[in-house]
Amino acid sequence: MKAQVPSLDCSLCPRLVDFRTENRRQYPDYHNAPVAAFGPDDAQLLILGLAPGLKGANCTGRPFTGDYAGDLLYATLKKFNLAEGNYEKRSDDGLTLRGCRIVNAVRCVPPANKPTTDEIRTCNSFLASELESLKQLTVVVALGRVAHDALLMASGLKRSHFKFEHAAVHDLQKGVQLVDSYHCSRYNTNTGRLTETMFHDVFAKAQKLLSEKTES
Ligand code: SF4
Repeated sequence: MKAQVPSLDCSLCPRLVDFRTENRRQYPDYHNAPVAAFGPDDAQLLILGLAPGLKGANCTGRPFTGDYAGDLLYATLKKFNLAEGNYEKRSDDGLTLRGCRIVNAVRCVPPANKPTTDEIRTCNSFLASELESLKQLTVVVALGRVAHDALLMASGLKRSHFKFEHAAVHDLQKGVQLVDSYHCSRYNTNTGRLTETMFHDVFAKAQKLLSEKTES
């Protein structure tokens, strides 16, 4: 079953619709619409981000494409053989993902990169549908606490049972495991909260979990 996806003019979040309208006026060449998931729908690994960046995914129309967070994420995916081709910060650069898929908890760009609790909740039905459609899913890497919480909400699980902690692994339902990571934002890397090595270690962990599942 295909995941339910929002229309390009999804009007469920009034504040984000206003921001979209303003961005369409100010940046007419940008995508300026909900950003669809990227990657094969038989992926075993899902990478869950927060929301499109104004001049990143909101511009290019592909998750994590065009801003700093994407530089680190796609370089890491290539390092772990999860992406093929050259990442050139454009949605038509020909880059493909291998066994992994990327989606954001909130599909429209929020002002100041901060979606409200209501917006996260409203967009969560699309995430729940995405999870439902990924029949091979075994590992999710959540980039940041908001993504972690959104995944639990979409899975019908209690936050109090799964505490966000960088590099923690949580056993969820139906054999799916969650690996937490600090978000690969420029802010987190500039402040040293997340180093490249720490980020690579998260993906090494995710890849180990994936290979254990394949062997079992
Ligand atoms: S964030 Fe999600 S639910 Fe809200 S308007 Fe965008 S696509 Fe629709």
